[in-house]
Amino acid sequence: MAQDIESTLIEKRVFPPSAEFARGAEVKSMDEYERLYARAAADLEGFWAEEARRLDWMQPFTEVLDESKAPFVRWFADGKLNISANCLDRHLAARADKPALVWIGEPGERRTLSYRELHTEVCKAANALTELGVGAGDRVAVYLPMIPELAISLLACARIGATHSVIFGGFSDTAIRDRVNDSSCKLIITADGGWRRGKIVPLKATVDAALEHGCPSVEKVLVVTRTRETVPMVEARDVRWETVVPLASAECPPVALEAEHPLFILYTSGTTGKPKGVVHSTGGYAVGAQYTTRLVFDLRDDDVYWCTADVGWVTGHSYVVYGPLMNGATTVMFEGAPDFPDKDRFWDIIEREKCTILYTAPTAIRAFMRWGDQFPERHDLSSLRLLGTVGEPINPEAWMWYRRVIGGDRCPIVDTWWQTETGAIMITPLPGATPTKPGSCTRPLPGIFADVVDKEGRSCGNNAGGYLVIRRPWPSMLRTVWGDAERYVKTYFSEIFVDGKALYFAGDGARRDEDGYFWVMGRIDDVLNVAGHRLGTMEIESALVGHVDVAEAAVVGRPDELKGQAVVAFVTLKSGRVASAAVKDALRAHVVKEIGALARPEEIRFTDALPKTRSGKIMRRLLKEIAAGGEVKGDVTTLEDVAVLNRLSAADEE
Ligand code: ATP
Ligand code: MG
Repeated sequence: MAQDIESTLIEKRVFPPSAEFARGAEVKSMDEYERLYARAAADLEGFWAEEARRLDWMQPFTEVLDESKAPFVRWFADGKLNISANCLDRHLAARADKPALVWIGEPGERRTLSYRELHTEVCKAANALTELGVGAGDRVAVYLPMIPELAISLLACARIGATHSVIFGGFSDTAIRDRVNDSSCKLIITADGGWRRGKIVPLKATVDAALEHGCPSVEKVLVVTRTRETVPMVEARDVRWETVVPLASAECPPVALEAEHPLFILYTSGTTGKPKGVVHSTGGYAVGAQYTTRLVFDLRDDDVYWCTADVGWVTGHSYVVYGPLMNGATTVMFEGAPDFPDKDRFWDIIEREKCTILYTAPTAIRAFMRWGDQFPERHDLSSLRLLGTVGEPINPEAWMWYRRVIGGDRCPIVDTWWQTETGAIMITPLPGATPTKPGSCTRPLPGIFADVVDKEGRSCGNNAGGYLVIRRPWPSMLRTVWGDAERYVKTYFSEIFVDGKALYFAGDGARRDEDGYFWVMGRIDDVLNVAGHRLGTMEIESALVGHVDVAEAAVVGRPDELKGQAVVAFVTLKSGRVASAAVKDALRAHVVKEIGALARPEEIRFTDALPKTRSGKIMRRLLKEIAAGGEVKGDVTTLEDVAVLNRLSAADEE
């Protein structure tokens, strides 16, 4: 990247953790972090083996990392364990009555399951699955709303060694069909419906439609009663959860599974194209989820921890269910939307439940900013002690707002970079140690060897943009793409080579500053090339969002004969601001002032919404097609609101 561009952008503000937070934290200083990091660098296997021994193994491992068939690696391969036993059974001695799961339904119900109760429910569900013919190695699709049965289903599958494949509750029948068929699931767990903004999401009907399209592998559909509306039940195929699970025995010894046994398949969110069935292991994944939850959220026994992600995404797997439960935490699960019945729902929940940790997405934070401070101001948020973000780069403006309005200038923020494929957080501050800079995910965790490199695999100099790669394997990395080992190698291990060995690269561009802090610039494919200068879309978006009128912005390139690419900005204004030519001029001037004339948007289009995946990420590839004047041709199954596309295509142009 051109030097003049970044130098104006580098965030000068630095926020060290408070002495009070650091005192109680597991990692208390950067010195301690550096020591851990150096330890892992000197003895990668020893470091991870020690971490792995925090878990309960049914057969201890003697080997740690096997790279002989890289990039297909194995961790702890001769060990056996069960992740549900690590989430539940191991806590029964000390924490049986501690709330494991606190669930809040959208209409307002509240249900708490202690570790003992959750253990019982999981055992019963596991026995019911066995009775329905599911065994170790089978795949089970899970298409549920955010209700306790979702967590119970995952843990029940894990207990008997069935590989779960969660399909986000917003997906259509064809998306379900494709995913179910890709991994030939034997059983689908669903519900009659789910609640979303006061309306019923017809889950069972959608599963029925998917099965009508043809899902030959599916033998049974297990249906949880949630909304109580009548749904047709197909004889011999459909079974009510309530008729089998409560009657099943509460005794269910966990199956000892090889560490490499596939725990789950999860299809990526589809920002860049056709979803891939990412496969995660049991042992390595458990180690990664346990380790990162403990260190990054600095869990204490009295924390009330809330990760707002849907379990349909990897964040929900690792940080609503597995990570917190392995650590014996109290995890909050919420069924509904942040703006129902009103735009203060999150803050209401935090006040009522006295949440101490909140982990959410930048897209949600930008929506909260747009709605206004009056909503959080209605509530007492003083129970919070730590905030986190994940999913997209967070623009410094939103970071500052999150810190001030939600965190009361008191809570550290952990901006965590990771992917479905990495299984667990990779680059992140440690809240008691790392001084944070708004917009940077800071430094890799001990044991994670991230780097920013050029095409030839050479580390880039300070502030030079390049490919974000991971140089060494880590336990929770994906093992393959389901049914397509070739795609695994092609997608993740065929871009950058060092001495003939491929480095893990999964699409993101980044730069590293003079303190070794990582700044994710967005997808490499999204980086613009304007008149020979490389510009991160993220940086132009940040500048736009820094303007008082702007709530959200997405920037893409449009082919341009003269400059190579021209900058096109899609902009959503804050509530109450009116789009006009004068605002466009002001925004252009603002970008020129913040970054330079090079980044000046050629075209600005106002829109009431941006096309996003159902996990809230902006789908720039669709915007690119719109900006180029073409029709949107790519895969849109993961798009949240298809109508946005039509509105955008019709939006006023210059
Ligand atoms: P697909 O791979 O199907 O295109 P996706 O990459 O959006 O979908 P995820 O695995 O859910 O699916 O998202 C991981 C990506 O999200 C990262 O590669 C990165 O681009 C972005 N991301 C996640 N956390 C952060 C963060 N803290 N800062 C910057 N970017 C982030
Ligand atoms: Mg991805």
